[in-house]
Amino acid sequence: KNIIRLFSKILDNEKVNFYGNISVGKDVDIDFLSENYDAVIIASGADCDKKLFINGAEKKGVYGSSEFVGWYNGIPKYKQLNPDLNVSNAIIIGNGNVALDCARLLAKQNSEFYNSDITNYSFKKLNNSAIKKIFILGRRGPLESKFTIAELRELGNLNGFSPEVDYPLDSLKNMLLLPDLDTRTKKNLQLLIEYKNSKKQTNKKIIFKFLYSPTEILGETKAKSIKLVKNIIEDNQLKPTDNYEEIDAGIIISAIGYETNQIANLTLDKSKSYFQNEDGHIKKNIYVTGWAANTSVGVIGSNKTPANIIANKISKSVRPNQKLPDDALKIYLKNNNKRFISKKDWVRIDKKEIENADKNFIRDKFVDLDSIASFLNS
Ligand code: NAP
Repeated sequence: KNIIRLFSKILDNEKVNFYGNISVGKDVDIDFLSENYDAVIIASGADCDKKLFINGAEKKGVYGSSEFVGWYNGIPKYKQLNPDLNVSNAIIIGNGNVALDCARLLAKQNSEFYNSDITNYSFKKLNNSAIKKIFILGRRGPLESKFTIAELRELGNLNGFSPEVDYPLDSLKNMLLLPDLDTRTKKNLQLLIEYKNSKKQTNKKIIFKFLYSPTEILGETKAKSIKLVKNIIEDNQLKPTDNYEEIDAGIIISAIGYETNQIANLTLDKSKSYFQNEDGHIKKNIYVTGWAANTSVGVIGSNKTPANIIANKISKSVRPNQKLPDDALKIYLKNNNKRFISKKDWVRIDKKEIENADKNFIRDKFVDLDSIASFLNS
């Protein structure tokens, strides 16, 4: 949330314009931008869930992490998700920080949400959740998990849930003795051992299971259980065994990484993870940065250096064309009757969301475009 202050400062700069509610490729072509501006930088991230290619993945109660995170964060297209939390078990597939985010959100209650900007509807729903067990499944082992320590530690500080590690203590301890362990992995292992030894008693648990891959989601139209296969790692290769396990599961969240949204006239790589580029250059005066330039790895901080490199590259290789109009996009959108959200509009929305917040929360977000439009027209 702190990064918002930095973005607000950038927005305050009179040289910066903002056009919100505009989808490039639908409302305006990338070629229009390329022809009417000195340079175009794609920084559209990766907000589509990687598909879970197993039988039953289309069943009700199975969500991608961007849908689930979008639901509690009030992204308009996901606000109707309304997941059924009147179930005992939740399964989260993946061993990255997004999996931890989803587990933490499912486990929090009441005051643990205070001072956040969680949507009102999801706050109510999560408070009334019947979930007692949250399983976090890694297809590989603790050594290969992608967690970072601050996020892993937060699961130990929850009021109602305690973490449990379904992995032999001796194996965890032996892993700590391995040479050349990086600091992140070492800290994670130490904390997993601490969780394994913990005497904290709650009747609700977050259970880490390692070396399990999902193979099928069972249930008629709605998820009822998940079938898992036990894996082993041999010569650094993941191999399934003949051991299967089934766990009851009313809600299943797949947190296995993201793909980038297609933009017409640009080419994605084979895995749809990013736009094809050469050191950030796509073609002509079009550049790309952040998750849209590479795989969906890292936080805002880790994407700053590549962003600086692109900015330097542009300042060296792009010569400003004095004949280009300043407000080509504005004119184009107005001529095409496309209602965009301007910088002034955004400042009004931001102020209103903060004003509307209940006393324990920092803002009450608008969660649909119609209510934004009617507020802006009022
Ligand atoms: P991630 O760190 O790449 O983790 C994805 C996980 O999904 C990995 O454990 C991966 O296992 C697993 N996976 C992939 N395909 C799978 C499959 N078919 N079946 C089972 N498991 C599968 O991605 P993420 O969690 O989406 O996070 C994206 C980035 O955002 C990361 O860099 C993360 O650190 C960052 N992030 C940071 C924060 C924070 O700092 N608070 C919060 C959220 C996200 P393998 O390793 O075996 O491929």
